[in-house]
Amino acid sequence: MAHVQSSNKILIAGGGIAGLATALTLHRLGLKSVTVLEQASSLRVTGASLTIWDNGWRALDALGVGDSLRRKHTQLKRIDTLSTTSGLTKSIDLQDHDVRCVLRKELLQTLAQALPANTIRFGSKISAIHQRQDNSSIATLDDGSQISPKVIIGCDGVNSTVAKWLGFGSPKFAGRSTFLGLGSFPQGHHFEPTTFQIWGDGLRAGFAPCNERDALWFLTRKSLPRDAKISYDANILQEEAQQLAEGLGSKEIMEVIKRSVPSSLSLAILKYRYLWPFLAGKAHKGNVTVAGDAMHPMTPDLGQGGALALEDSIILGKCLAEVDLDKSLEIEVALNKYVEKRKKRVFGMGVGSSISGIVQSGSWWLPKLIREKVVFNKLSPKMLRHTEYDCGTLPTLS
Ligand SMILES: Cc1cc2nc3c(=O)[nH]c(=O)nc-3n(C[C@H](O)[C@H](O)[C@H](O)COP(=O)(O)OP(=O)(O)OC[C@H]3O[C@@H](n4cnc5c(N)ncnc54)[C@H](O)[C@@H]3O)c2cc1C
Repeated sequence: MAHVQSSNKILIAGGGIAGLATALTLHRLGLKSVTVLEQASSLRVTGASLTIWDNGWRALDALGVGDSLRRKHTQLKRIDTLSTTSGLTKSIDLQDHDVRCVLRKELLQTLAQALPANTIRFGSKISAIHQRQDNSSIATLDDGSQISPKVIIGCDGVNSTVAKWLGFGSPKFAGRSTFLGLGSFPQGHHFEPTTFQIWGDGLRAGFAPCNERDALWFLTRKSLPRDAKISYDANILQEEAQQLAEGLGSKEIMEVIKRSVPSSLSLAILKYRYLWPFLAGKAHKGNVTVAGDAMHPMTPDLGQGGALALEDSIILGKCLAEVDLDKSLEIEVALNKYVEKRKKRVFGMGVGSSISGIVQSGSWWLPKLIREKVVFNKLSPKMLRHTEYDCGTLPTLS
């Protein structure tokens, strides 16, 4: 057996939104001994953008990075939704909300830059976890080395090794795939600060400006067997998205897709996990827990996965900061408290996202009927109540 290195550190697996935000929360709470292990060789600077709603901005403000990100991204004032079935458009006023499409690269770089140097160890993958008789856990890395830290936090995304070890089942396929990309307008675009969506028959699409030069677009259709093969081929993705968007009759979406930056293009096969086992309390064991998509992979139909990861990080950090990390029983109490605090919220959002996706994109008669006769008529700011959640503040860094 390899030499096990004991460490007084908190070990975070994964340097995505959840991992970096958790490390920053712990840093701001004075817990300095934190390492983020990221399997990739650098931060993920490819990819497009994600919509951050009020609840996500509260978390970013708590982390001290809200204002610098706000300055770089356009505040959206309205959601316009067009139904291709009825030809009608409905608007939701966003004046009372803080909603922006944030470039993923900007978000990750901002979080990473706020961390002390050398917090992130790139090219380090956690491949397994073992529990010892005293309930402490050992993380085994890809290179065979082993670490026994104070706490292990799995922020390792939808296919999380840590979640599997905790006993979570594999995420399920939602049956839909989403094309995502960033249209680039070096001379500036002419779009209003509005997010525009089209609800079609089995097809949903939309776009919104991120800043003065970039606009996010998305397009969701039924998953096809070839999706896994084409998901990283920028040319195929752009071509297929253009073909699908043609039928929607929006010149603006066509223009944004046409101007896609190749490195921003992706096709995500949407996944979610039934969270019933989570209600039975498997989200922590000994000194191990999970946050972000590792805990609650969900479809992006409410645009909330990233914001929930930010909320998780603040709540988890606060629970850990309250206890003596030299006492394993206290760590278990802290992790239990964190999971209890998150259960209702993430369960509700996961179910809400799935239902919202089926209603917005379903092509069979029942979702179509609900979409056209009920939901479309009731579109209003009341549907955004889930964005009112406040994860609280953190002490200001001196
Ligand atoms: C099409 C689409 C659109 C979306 N739109 C929105 C939106 O508008 N708004 C929103 O809030 N959310 C949105 N989301 C959800 C959001 O992207 C995710 O919820 C968010 O990225 C989760 O962050 P995370 O850090 O938990 O996981 P990830 O971003 O997946 O990060 C996990 C990290 O862990 C690393 N890793 C994995 N395994 C290991 C390991 N064993 N050891 C070490 N490192 C490891 C990975 O390399 C990665 O860097 C969308 C998702 C999709 C698919």
